[in-house]
Amino acid sequence: MRDRLRALDDAGMGKLCISADPYHQQFVPIACCRLAARVASELLGADRVQVRWRDWLAEGFDTAELDDEERGRLFGRYAESGRDRLNGRAAECLAPRLQRKNPAHFADTSCAEAILRSRHIHVDGTGRVMPGTCAGILLGRLSDRTSVRQLWESLAADHAARPIIGTLARAGPVGLMQLAESAGFVPFPQGYASKCHLCWEIRRRLVELGAFPDELGPAWMYEK
Ligand code: SF4
Repeated sequence: MRDRLRALDDAGMGKLCISADPYHQQFVPIACCRLAARVASELLGADRVQVRWRDWLAEGFDTAELDDEERGRLFGRYAESGRDRLNGRAAECLAPRLQRKNPAHFADTSCAEAILRSRHIHVDGTGRVMPGTCAGILLGRLSDRTSVRQLWESLAADHAARPIIGTLARAGPVGLMQLAESAGFVPFPQGYASKCHLCWEIRRRLVELGAFPDELGPAWMYEK
């Protein structure tokens, strides 16, 4: 762990972010998160270590030990607190436990902040870059000739002209819904648990149709 942290530090990492919540603890022992937080604080300094969430890190436990029903109830209660952005399959799995709202409820919610000023990003094994909180939206691809900085500069310059990213940045998922309705997207009558749940279902429909592969992917992420 020390070697990894030193390597990341040498590579210019600003802050280490450790995920700790009931969802991760189904798969990652909380003891590993606690150890990582302690060692990283010693090595990097506490101000360079972020934990989402510290209260869970202190009081949480491994949710793999719960049965499916108990775990589902805990996930539902935790999700209701609203501090996590539920996206992708998480939104889909947890939606039945959450209050649903009509898509109109999410009108006028731009996603510019989440997409264009994402505080962290995800990079897959082939170099595809996604915003930190919007799984399945592709911002571009890194290569020997394209750095994160260059990718970000090109996003700033031309995002408005990109059909998915431009629409989400301007008009959020309700704007995207209008684009998708012409491709046959029909909203759920029971509504959506959050704007990201709505966004995910719209994007999945578009992926099923093979639309916008440059901006929506990787395809496996959308598989049921
Ligand atoms: S609605 Fe879509 S684009 Fe907006 S924050 Fe949620 S996942 Fe990201």
